[in-house]
Amino acid sequence: MSSAPDKPLDSAGFGSDPAQLEALLAQSRQAKFSQFGNTVFPVSPLYVTSICKEKCTYCNYRAGSSDPGLKRVRLSDDDLAREVEFLVETEGLRAVELVYASDPLLTHADIVRHIALTRRIVERHGGHTVGLSAEPMSVDEYRALKDVGLTFSVVWQETYDPVRYAELHPGTHIKSDFGYRLDSFDRMIQAELEGVGYGVLSGLADWRRDWSMLLRHQQWLRDTYGRGCNILGVPRLKAAPGSTFREFSYAPTDDEFLALLALHNVRFPDVRPFVSTREEFALCLRMAEGGGCLFTLDCSTVPGGYTLPNHGAQFVTGNYAAPRFAPLVEATGLKLDWYWNSHLAEMELARKA
Ligand code: SF4
Repeated sequence: MSSAPDKPLDSAGFGSDPAQLEALLAQSRQAKFSQFGNTVFPVSPLYVTSICKEKCTYCNYRAGSSDPGLKRVRLSDDDLAREVEFLVETEGLRAVELVYASDPLLTHADIVRHIALTRRIVERHGGHTVGLSAEPMSVDEYRALKDVGLTFSVVWQETYDPVRYAELHPGTHIKSDFGYRLDSFDRMIQAELEGVGYGVLSGLADWRRDWSMLLRHQQWLRDTYGRGCNILGVPRLKAAPGSTFREFSYAPTDDEFLALLALHNVRFPDVRPFVSTREEFALCLRMAEGGGCLFTLDCSTVPGGYTLPNHGAQFVTGNYAAPRFAPLVEATGLKLDWYWNSHLAEMELARKA
């Protein structure tokens, strides 16, 4: 498998033959368990702005969204602090990921301030983890964020098919630049971020090709830099109210989706999948088998969605509130490392390797 990572993807029965799927899932579970011993890392997203200049066809926050229920919001620093405090003090999270639409009025200096503010609050409660999901940046911009406490950054490539990418991302802004996005992983690694996340939005294009490219990309980064991405985004396309995207025939089934994740786990067991509340809770638990993943609990894709009466989500998600759902996770035998202690230590080792 290691010499031809995409070979299983070429087989017609990939993900649909029950016996093969069970064997692959068992292999994945074993690979993850032997490295992580069932430990998962809780995290929650915190949306900072839903004002966006981009036009991604599948997103409710795109410029020109037709959703009448969408109220565009950019959080003030006070609002942001209240949201972080809710997640940390009320819900018990110790890892928060700030998420940004491509807001034309938000600067890099604003994001620096937001990261520093969030880190201060998380640290007051013994945590150390602040993540970022935003448009790709330069090496110097990533370094400046790391200096004020950024722990990890994720960029989802969406699809590796440049023609399909151009269809889905019309416009003239940074998101339309396929190459700049593709090279952002090099820049995050060059900035020596502890955590670097990559992934595709499964369902936008041919998933066999996208996941094959994903595996090759990981190997190329490792060959080139001695380290690759250590977080794997596994978003699967869901309907968004104000989007124009209507072609859901590309979406992998649950079994195909689990098989893709398992294949990646077997090939690169050290990489932590980012299990998201786009999926049903039961499926999240299946995705987390063996441990070694980020596990989303509380989730709102509305800026201010935890403490303010804002409305208009980016897409439909579950919200697995930590006080209620964390015990259900633990009941399956998974262990929750709220402080990400083992995760951070391993990320640091990988960075220095
Ligand atoms: S996916 Fe991100 S960049 Fe694209 S329209 Fe939505 S919020 Fe904006």
